[in-house]
Amino acid sequence: MSFTVDPSRIRSLAAEHGTPLLLLSTRTIVSQYRTLQAALPGVLLHYALKPLPHPAVVKALHEIGAYFDLATNGEVDVVRAAGVPADKCIQTHPIKRDSDIRYTLGYGCKTFVFDNPWELPKFLPYKDQVELLMRLSFRNKDARCDLSAKFGVQPAEALELLRKAVGMGLKVRGLSFHAGSQLMNNFKYVEAITFCRQLFSLAALEGIHLDTMDIGGGFPVPYTDPVMPINYYCHPVASELQRLFPGVRLLAEPGRFISAPSMTLVASVMGKAERQGRMWYYLDDGLYGSYSGKMFDHGDYQFSPLAKLEGKGGEERMSVVSGPTCDSIDVIYTDIMLPEMECGDLVVSPMMGAYTWASATEFNFFPKAKIVVID
Ligand SMILES: *Cc1c(COP(=O)(O)O)cnc(C)c1O
Repeated sequence: MSFTVDPSRIRSLAAEHGTPLLLLSTRTIVSQYRTLQAALPGVLLHYALKPLPHPAVVKALHEIGAYFDLATNGEVDVVRAAGVPADKCIQTHPIKRDSDIRYTLGYGCKTFVFDNPWELPKFLPYKDQVELLMRLSFRNKDARCDLSAKFGVQPAEALELLRKAVGMGLKVRGLSFHAGSQLMNNFKYVEAITFCRQLFSLAALEGIHLDTMDIGGGFPVPYTDPVMPINYYCHPVASELQRLFPGVRLLAEPGRFISAPSMTLVASVMGKAERQGRMWYYLDDGLYGSYSGKMFDHGDYQFSPLAKLEGKGGEERMSVVSGPTCDSIDVIYTDIMLPEMECGDLVVSPMMGAYTWASATEFNFFPKAKIVVID
């Protein structure tokens, strides 16, 4: 198990702050951004705030000159508070209210996304200010979360929609897509990029000159299984972008890849029981809290008693690990081999930065884990 935080430091931080606790490494945020940047040369990386919209993350990225991908007014507030210039941001929610467009323009961010004809009239009052990207849908059963199931114009209908937008006098600068989150196969990007190139050419024949290509997010991280190293993963994507889109402004919207490895969860055993021959451990965090990604993100996380990482702990038994709420679905692991733990013992899960705290609730009045920046 890969832990960036030393066990003795985890003990002292838990004693100082209590649990549940999420230890946030902004150094990891920065190194993930730089690693992806090296794998995608020439692509402007816009950190998608959605998986971890924390001010410390935005501040760390802003300090190294990063760009940002926003979807909501709340996210506008976070980047604005961090002093990010609006021209380093894009707003990529395909469905917006007039108040959302006005709020984002009020901040100064001008780039928006559309994927259907009903969205277009909403931009008419701001025609002279807004610059648009048209989002395409490339369905993907290989992705853990297929974001093209919900958003994006069908490739076959894309040219017609583009014509319509331009015909209304709107300024369309380019295309975007989201190939699917935690996407194991890089060829989906290549397929999408290839199609977009054709659309660029078809549009140019009609006098519509596009200058921006946005390849979205989706880049995978190792949770419980290894993934392809990101430089290998991105290599065909980067080379196709360079070959097919010379002189075009290239963007990406990574969220998970930047934030997932940045947080380690520390929780405590609140209680234990023996039921039908199994040990049950009740933690102070669960499916309604930091492990909400198991529900919403279809994810899984590594898990270990802290003592085990320190080389302690005895014989292992088949056990159940549960969250604190009174709901029976709030069970994190049903069949997991664990050494016997006692009330008050600490447990840890790494790779808890993306789609965890962001989607946690305070159901049953169990507060969300506290985030502590550790570097
Ligand atoms: C969620 C989202 C992202 C981030 O996707 P990851 O898979 O976390 O990289 C990027 N762009 C849009 C439009 C999104 O909705």
